[in-house]
Amino acid sequence: MRTHADWQRLADTLEPRTRAYIDGGFVDASDGETFETVNPATGAVIARVARGRETEVDRAVAAARRSFESGVWSQAAPAERKRVLLAVAAAIRDTADELALLDSVDGGKLICDTTEIDIPGSAAILQWYAEAIDKVYGEVAPTPGADLAVVSREPVGVVGAVVPWNYPLETAIWKLAPALAAGNSVVLKPAEETPLSALRFAELATEAGLPAGALNVVPGFGHEAGQALGLHPDVDVIAFTGSTAVGKKFLEYSSRSNMKAVWLECGGKSANLVFADATDLDAVADFAVAGIFTCSGQVCSANSRLLVERSIVDELTERIAARARAVRVGDPLDPAATMGPLVSAAQLSRVRAHVDGARSVATLITGGDAPALQSGGFYLEPTVFADTAVGSALWSEEIFGPVLAIAPFDDEAEAVRLANDSDYGLAASVFTDSIHRALRVSKALRAGTVSVNTVDALDVVTPFGGMKQSGFGRDLSLHAFDNYTALKTTWFAGR
Ligand code: NAD
Repeated sequence: MRTHADWQRLADTLEPRTRAYIDGGFVDASDGETFETVNPATGAVIARVARGRETEVDRAVAAARRSFESGVWSQAAPAERKRVLLAVAAAIRDTADELALLDSVDGGKLICDTTEIDIPGSAAILQWYAEAIDKVYGEVAPTPGADLAVVSREPVGVVGAVVPWNYPLETAIWKLAPALAAGNSVVLKPAEETPLSALRFAELATEAGLPAGALNVVPGFGHEAGQALGLHPDVDVIAFTGSTAVGKKFLEYSSRSNMKAVWLECGGKSANLVFADATDLDAVADFAVAGIFTCSGQVCSANSRLLVERSIVDELTERIAARARAVRVGDPLDPAATMGPLVSAAQLSRVRAHVDGARSVATLITGGDAPALQSGGFYLEPTVFADTAVGSALWSEEIFGPVLAIAPFDDEAEAVRLANDSDYGLAASVFTDSIHRALRVSKALRAGTVSVNTVDALDVVTPFGGMKQSGFGRDLSLHAFDNYTALKTTWFAGR
């Protein structure tokens, strides 16, 4: 087991890649401009990274298009693409500590999480899609007479992937793995807060055998590199994870340019419904706390609204508050820390503004302040509000921080109505010991994933995505291939 000092020593030896990755090599921005990426645990600048804009996006898309048209990847035998992507997955595992450190230092993510969840998860997902490549078949349609109609899946061409900072490498892999497995070439725009792991990954992928141009990474800001990718006339598909406001922009970019397909995974305000017949309240409290404080609450499917049947609301609130107070907020590189900082000063002040506004619409049970840490990092205490006024900003807006809003309900119908009364529909949880209630309520909830007696159930074998303004794309599972393949009908007239 590595100690805090061990991880810190290793972090001090990191040599982040800081240039854009285009056509199999690192390049500076054409105007030489850079931007800072900052360590959320200290506020210190880690590195200056190439500031990709339209010119770099043009170069990356051209490289992707060239590689796609050449067939070096798109026409490679399925077994060959599988071999290469398995080698890339192995490279992630061989470089796991470095990639974990990059995401921890760049994104303020707990080292326990990056070493146990993000990086092994990234390797496993890539491996899963690699193994699927030579097991996905097309169809033969029921045509009349001697006609034969074959329905095959073809790669769409150039995929633009635009991702957020909360799971920097893993969210990128959710897009890249099925896109590359299907034979596409990709241009990835990581979040400006966390560009480092993606740049290192691209280099590893080339070393493992991925042909030049099949994966390009353009770091930069959303309104520059992100917008340029969204508007690019030679990008066939955009796969986006991020806020609902920016997701809507991508739809607009598409309509203003080449009508590219856009797959959106956007925000959430997920409800967790706890019924009085859930007898193990300690387990419920553990899940509720994990559901909101994991990754400092910066999770799209965070269970930020807790609906509790009135007869148990005080008792459950007390148990949750005790656990919230026991959370060890601290340096992400300290394996004993159980919650790290928020990703940026801007995010911290956004969340604090929400907390301040919430004091008049709910009762603050615990938290709400910055903990007394001297590091200069962007920390906030785990925060719990009870008696939340439903309809308030605390109840309805995505805060994307460690802030839980609790409200009571009186019966099942009211619980479902309150849970569904949201612009979002990404995820929901239900705690009950009644199988009948579990079936009724899970069916009635408008959410892409309903977790019963757990929170945030997620695996590569099941699709992940939202309803309503949480978006309509689906990551993970074989369904993700729908985002990155076009169905082609080839009809042979019989004689
Ligand atoms: P964001 O929407 O601000 O940024 C996401 C990405 O979009 C970044 O790469 C950013 O540079 C880019 N971007 C920003 N403005 C842009 C513009 N005008 N044009 C083109 N690109 C632009 O989101 P964020 O703050 O990085 O992440 C938090 C949000 O992401 C939350 O709303 C969260 O719910 C959502 N999220 C959703 C999922 C999901 O799967 N549904 C997963 C994680 C995060």
